Amino acid sequence: MLDLKQIGASEFRQLKQAQDRGQLSHAYLLLSSDEVEALNTAYWLICYVNCTGEKKPDGTCPACRRILAGNHPDVFLIDTEENKQSIAIDQIRPLKQELAKSPLEGDRRYFVINHAQKLTLPAANALLNLLEEPAAPVVTFLIANNGGQILPTIKSRTQIINFSQQAASSKDRLLLANGMSQEEVDQVKSSQEVDQAVKFFYQELREHDSLAIVSAHQLAGLVKKQKQGTKAWEKYVWILLKKWGEKDLEKGDCQEAANFLADLMRVDQMWQSNVGFLNNLDYLALKWQQ
Ligand SMILES: [Zn+2]
Repeated sequence: MLDLKQIGASEFRQLKQAQDRGQLSHAYLLLSSDEVEALNTAYWLICYVNCTGEKKPDGTCPACRRILAGNHPDVFLIDTEENKQSIAIDQIRPLKQELAKSPLEGDRRYFVINHAQKLTLPAANALLNLLEEPAAPVVTFLIANNGGQILPTIKSRTQIINFSQQAASSKDRLLLANGMSQEEVDQVKSSQEVDQAVKFFYQELREHDSLAIVSAHQLAGLVKKQKQGTKAWEKYVWILLKKWGEKDLEKGDCQEAANFLADLMRVDQMWQSNVGFLNNLDYLALKWQQ
């Protein structure tokens, strides 16, 4: 059973829109440093198309459940086999026979190739032949973490969706929408370490973990360490915390998330009237300890 915690929201929207308009391409290359996220997104789209529930995709109707459990007769997942480093031609060949058959339940079938960067050359060439038969009612999703390892001939036959690129630009939009200037956005470009620290801090706050006070100091240290734009980084942390709170609010976790956002607003005001960054982090950590 797939755990669908992470889905590329904007990438899913893009695929859903194509499906709604009847413009789904016959082959996609989903490039992401997080292959699980890309794989989930492909499966979520397949659920969306086949879902029999009211709110599509619900992930809970019989069709969705069989898709997510790997038991749907129109969905084929090819992956590296246990203890093997590559995907062999023997794994691709059966797809050719499947191509000749009609879909059993819906109006098309789905081939999902996970870790497509691990296709051997013969396997990649066999796949290329499949991709050249666009008349067959099949949509193929290639999932890969490294576009550089995918044959150019395969790339040219697929529509490429680059997850990290979209994530970066949607992050820029989020920061600009929250009052950062373009200059500040540029200053907080490489933020992985800080992102992680903010996420931990947020989780600890929400779990009323007394270690949040330690994380507050680590986070402040990390921000201080940045070479430029200390103020921009501080602002960035508030925006991220707000984003996490809003995410939980959307999930229906109402009272606690609303309380958190109210505290955050207070902190933001204190920070703007020059109360130090660390003092504000401490304030949150202490307040949420109880
Ligand atoms: Zn469903």
